[in-house]
Amino acid sequence: MSTTHDVFNQVPPLTGHDTSADPALLEGIEREGAGWALPGIQEVGRLAGTPEAMELGRLAERVPPRLHTHDRYGRRVDEVEYVPAYHRLMETAVSHGIHAAPWADDRPGAHVARAAKFYSWNVDAGHGCPISMTYAVVPALRANPELAARFEPLLTNREYDFGLRDPETKRGLIAGMSMTEKQGGSDVRANTTTARPQVDGSYRIVGHKWFTSAPMSDLFLTLAQAPGGLSCFLLPRVLPGGEANPIRFLRLKDKLGNKSNASSEIEYDDAVGWLVGEEGRGVKTIVEMVNMTRLDCVIGSASGMRSALVQAAHHARHRSAFGKLLVDQPLMRNVLADLAVESEAATTAMMRLAGANDRAVRGDAGEASLRRLALAATKYYVCKRGPVLANEALECLGGNGYIEDFDLARIYRELPLLSIWEGSGNVAALDALRAIGREPESLDAFFGEAELALGADARYDDAVTSLKKELTDFDDIELRARRLVEQIAVVFQAGLLIRHAPTAVADAFCATRLARDWGSAFGTLPAGLDLAPILERTEPGF
Ligand SMILES: Cc1cc2nc3c(=O)[nH]c(=O)nc-3n(C[C@H](O)[C@H](O)[C@H](O)COP(=O)(O)OP(=O)(O)OC[C@H]3O[C@@H](n4cnc5c(N)ncnc54)[C@H](O)[C@@H]3O)c2cc1C
Repeated sequence: MSTTHDVFNQVPPLTGHDTSADPALLEGIEREGAGWALPGIQEVGRLAGTPEAMELGRLAERVPPRLHTHDRYGRRVDEVEYVPAYHRLMETAVSHGIHAAPWADDRPGAHVARAAKFYSWNVDAGHGCPISMTYAVVPALRANPELAARFEPLLTNREYDFGLRDPETKRGLIAGMSMTEKQGGSDVRANTTTARPQVDGSYRIVGHKWFTSAPMSDLFLTLAQAPGGLSCFLLPRVLPGGEANPIRFLRLKDKLGNKSNASSEIEYDDAVGWLVGEEGRGVKTIVEMVNMTRLDCVIGSASGMRSALVQAAHHARHRSAFGKLLVDQPLMRNVLADLAVESEAATTAMMRLAGANDRAVRGDAGEASLRRLALAATKYYVCKRGPVLANEALECLGGNGYIEDFDLARIYRELPLLSIWEGSGNVAALDALRAIGREPESLDAFFGEAELALGADARYDDAVTSLKKELTDFDDIELRARRLVEQIAVVFQAGLLIRHAPTAVADAFCATRLARDWGSAFGTLPAGLDLAPILERTEPGF
C-alpha cells in the first residue's frame, strides 16, 4: 500500500442512478402519450445506471469485433466474432423491446416509449446501431407484404438469437442497411451494384458496399440497379434451407469511435435478393427506413448530450478547486447551465418528434408533415450540437475528461458519427430545403406548431417573423441552407421550451439562441438569468 499520499477530492463514480430520471424526458413521455409505459422505461433506466451494465458497455467498446473471412481449413466463412459483453447488451436491448417491438404494439405511444428507452439505454452506442436498423427496417419492408408477413414477426420478437442460420428457423432477427458505395454515399443514385431478375422472381446481386455496419445481421436492405432503375432489395445472410448467401466480408473499418459495432466493406458475389417495393423506386422505399434511423440519430445525440451533461454536473458537485465546489464557482455554473439548456432543448425536440412519429405511423397526415421538415432540420442541428457539447462537458472534468477510464472520452468520440450517418450535415440541411420545396404542407405543419407558442416571449415572436421573411427569399437558397435550417431547428426548440419547459430554461434559451446575447463557446450566458432552476434539472435521479 502506498504511503506517499492520501487520495482525496476525486469524484465518486456515478452509478446506481436511473438514466430515465431526466425531467425533460419524463415530461415528454407524459405529453406524448407514453405515460402507460413508464415502469418499463424506468426499468431500462435503472439497468443502464448499474455498474454491471456500464462495465459491459466499456468492455464491448474496449475489445472490438474481429473478422474471420475463412475457417482454419481455408473455407470462406465471412463471420464477425463479438465479445460476450456485446451479446449481453444486444440481449438486453431486444428483450426490452428497444429494437422493432413497437411495430407489433398497437398502443398509441408505443414508439414514444421505445424512443425513451433508446435514449435511456445509454451504456454503449455501438450496439445501438443494429438495434436502430432493426427498428427502422420494418416500415420499408412493408412495401413487400409477403416478405413483411414472413419476417416482421421475427424482427419484432423480443428474443436475441445470434448466429448464421436460415432466418425462418430463428427465434428473433436483426436487420442492417447497406447503401453506401465507394463512389457515392449521399448520392446513392451513383450506386453501381446491379440486380438481375431470375425466373423464380428473385434477383442476383453483384457489386460492393463500402460501408455495411452490423454485418452479422440476418437481413439487409440494400440498393442495386435493376432493369427498371435503382431498386430496394432484401438480402438474407443465410438462404432458406441453410446455405450461405454469397456476401463476402473484405475488412472491418478502423473507426474513431463506435468500436463495439462492426462496420464492414462487403461484396455481393451473385447474392440472392428479393425486391421490396417497385423496381426503380428504391430510394422512395428505403427512405421509410431512413426516416426512422434519422430519428434515432436525434435520440442518440440527445441521449449522449444528457449523459455528458449529467457526468459533468456530477463532477462539479463533488470536486473542489480554489476553496469551493466547482458547482458553486460562478463561471462553472454558467458553463453547466448553458450545457443544460442545450441538452434540454435537444431532448424536448426529440420527444416531440418521437410523438409525431408515433402518430404519423398510425396514419396522422398532419403529424407526418411536421415530422418531414422538423426531423430533417433537427437531425441537422442537434447532431451538430452534440459533439460541441460533449467537448465542453469533457472539459468540466479537467484532465480526467480526456482519459479513457472516464466515460466522457467515449461519448465525445461517438457523437460526430450521428452527424455523418443518415445524411451528413449538408445533406440533412438540403433535405430540409427539399421538404419545403416539394412538400409545402410540411412547412405549414411546422409553422402551425411554431405559432402555438406565440405571444409569450417577444424574442420568439420576432424569430418566427424573421424566419418567415427569410423563407420568402429563394436567392442562393442552397448556399444559405445551413443558416436557414438552423433557424428552423432553433425556432422549433424555442417554441417547445416556451410551452413546456420551466420559465428559466426557456428564458435562457431565448436570450441566447434567439436574441443572440451569447458568445461562441458554452458558458457565455448573460448575467441576470435564473440559473438555479436550470441546474436543478441536471441532478441524476435515483
Ligand atoms: C461508422 C460508420 C458506419 C456506417 N454504416 C453504414 C451502414 O451500415 N450502411 C450504409 O449504407 N452506410 C453506412 N455508413 C456510411 C454513411 O452513411 C456515409 O458515409 C454517409 O452517408 C456519407 O456518405 P459518403 O461517405 O459517401 O460521403 P459523401 O456523400 O461523399 O459526402 C461527403 C461530404 O459532402 C457533403 N455533400 C454531399 N452532397 C452534397 C451536396 N449536394 N452539397 C453540399 N455538400 C454535399 C456531405 O454532407 C459530406 O460532408 C457508415 C458510416 C460510418 C462512418
